[in-house]
Amino acid sequence: MYHRIIVKIGTSVVTNAKGELDLQVLKRLVEETAQLRKKNTEVVIVTSGAVGTGRGMVTLKDESDSVVKKQIFAAVGQVKLMSTYAEYFAKEGIVCAQVLATKEDFRDREHYSHMKNCIENLLRNDVIPVVNENDVVAVAELVFTDNDELAGLLASQLNVNAVFFLTGIDGVMDRDWKKGNAKVIPEISLANIDSFEKHITEEKSDFSRGGMRTKFEIAKKLARDGITTHIANGKVPGILMGLDRGLSIGTKFLPK
Ligand code: GLU
Repeated sequence: MYHRIIVKIGTSVVTNAKGELDLQVLKRLVEETAQLRKKNTEVVIVTSGAVGTGRGMVTLKDESDSVVKKQIFAAVGQVKLMSTYAEYFAKEGIVCAQVLATKEDFRDREHYSHMKNCIENLLRNDVIPVVNENDVVAVAELVFTDNDELAGLLASQLNVNAVFFLTGIDGVMDRDWKKGNAKVIPEISLANIDSFEKHITEEKSDFSRGGMRTKFEIAKKLARDGITTHIANGKVPGILMGLDRGLSIGTKFLPK
């Protein structure tokens, strides 16, 4: 259905409660990406999970500075995260590439075009770009709000047709899901988007920075730019194929 998409995979999708990579989910998402590739859909993955994975891998001696902690966890976890993607893509006969970005790369015209050219050329050569924020150097004003913001910026930069936000919950709910009886809102358009905004809770998972509010704001901006956004549960088998086939899963934000 789509020619070019961004699949943003959240920390709560690729890691489990113990801060380990959820290998089964990651493998499945790679296999589904490979199936999309066979149908000539160009896929750029934006993945979180470096910090979450790194936390489970090192015990810090006496580090209390949260910036230093995040740098160490990210530096360690990114290796594991990326090597796992590479291993699973290799099983599908696909080469993937690591692209690490900071906010600076979108601020300055030269960095912006280097980044765009690099990703376009990876795609042209059938390599799947796997992007994450460069958490090791991204400190203070260089930090993206979260990887959702990074995915949104890449979507505009690369003229994609759609962004799939894969997260730990089923989509945008019609009421606070903790209060029970909440249902997923299947479709949101620019005409009715403001009426749904009040249902959004600020909650986020322990190891990640993004939340439903940022996803919602980005989806709204992308809709205005003519890009479709889906927010769906990344742990559900067949999720990528289903979204690509236009099945009603999660929440779809219709573009202008
Ligand atoms: N870049 C961070 C990581 O890989 C995640 C940032 C976010 O949660 O959006 O762990």
